[in-house]
Amino acid sequence: MEATHAITSKRDGHELDAEELHELVLEYARGEIPDYQMAAFLMAGYLQGLTPSETKALTEAMVDSGQQLDLSQLSGPTADKHSTGGVGDGTSLLVAPLAAAMGLQMVKLSGRGLGHTGGTLDKLEAIPGMRTTLKKDELLAQLEEIGLAICAQTDDLVPADRAMYALRDVTATVDSVALIASSIMSKKLAGGAQTILLDVKTGSGAFMKDLDSARELACTCVDLGRAADRKVGALITDMNQPLSDMVGNAIEVREAIEALRGDRRSRFTELSVNLAGQLAYLAGTCADADEGRASARQALDSGAALERFALFVEAQGGDPRVTDDPELLPAAALVREVRAPAAGWLASVDTELVGNAAARLGAGRQQKDDRIDPAVGLELMVKIGDQIEPDDVIGRVFARSETDAEATEHMLQDALDLSDTRRAEPPLIHDVI
Ligand code: URA
Repeated sequence: MEATHAITSKRDGHELDAEELHELVLEYARGEIPDYQMAAFLMAGYLQGLTPSETKALTEAMVDSGQQLDLSQLSGPTADKHSTGGVGDGTSLLVAPLAAAMGLQMVKLSGRGLGHTGGTLDKLEAIPGMRTTLKKDELLAQLEEIGLAICAQTDDLVPADRAMYALRDVTATVDSVALIASSIMSKKLAGGAQTILLDVKTGSGAFMKDLDSARELACTCVDLGRAADRKVGALITDMNQPLSDMVGNAIEVREAIEALRGDRRSRFTELSVNLAGQLAYLAGTCADADEGRASARQALDSGAALERFALFVEAQGGDPRVTDDPELLPAAALVREVRAPAAGWLASVDTELVGNAAARLGAGRQQKDDRIDPAVGLELMVKIGDQIEPDDVIGRVFARSETDAEATEHMLQDALDLSDTRRAEPPLIHDVI
């Protein structure tokens, strides 16, 4: 096909037919169309927008560019969840064992963190011995046996997205709702689960800073999933402050274990229970989301989810004793307390700055190939709406060196905006789609 025809049509605002888009994407994935032509097409699509049928065709083509995970031999119901990325957002560590304890088979093919957001695989790899690469047979057997697996996506799954995402990253074409939705949903659809729940974040630490664009992304993703005959829903959830108290890798695993053990009740636990409940409702194992939440709460309180988590860690080569003794997780050499810069009510948090502070310490990646230090990170002990007295300890930094700790202390203080009057804490869940 003529790539120039597709580029010209899109540039001039015409709708491409599904066949032409399909061919464009597959030829690009096979290396038959050069990057510069795909980049021109992406920019035309970014500027002109993609219609719903173009977005659907693009998603289908990306799915067809590689292998798909066939879960049909599993007893099911199979489920997956995806977060659009946040700070202190380790809900998969809690939602997956909750869902498994509730009878779902939770298959999560995950990515690594980049920039200010963390990635599930990086967090899991903080557990000594934990493997995040599973062969297909191993993955299926583990799902049938214990009901959950979280591992890296293989290279043969949606190769077109990998290439196009890398191109978008360097051509200022990432933040288009249609391109993001097709990128996310092509991976979820190829992952094979029948039920898919999206956790679309909105706020100062999210991709989608405002609620309207988060809602648009959520609705587009849900439409794409339903068009592919999957049971799909979305929660739009708050990222105006880190979700959990800890931001890092080992320390987020520790927080998740404490939540599973019932030792910690927080917004993180609350959201995880909501997500697991919503998943069960979507999958049809609960009559409604309220029943789903009650069932998730029961899985947490009974210790059933903790038990699943230990089985999961063991199945993937990790040391399951971490569930009894989180001290086995890597710990930073240095812990520094952070004090309040002034008195007042916490009015807002620059969550992206908090995420960048953790990444700068070594908890995240600034570049794709950066190495993660599992032990470092930070803790933010205050939430929006809290009253802070001068010199209150508002956080802790877990660092490798004094220099790192000091720089992070200042970043954390700078990220907090204090006011003379009390601000209400933002809701945890803004909308359900
Ligand atoms: N996450 C994805 O998987 N794709 C995007 O385009 C943006 C975020």
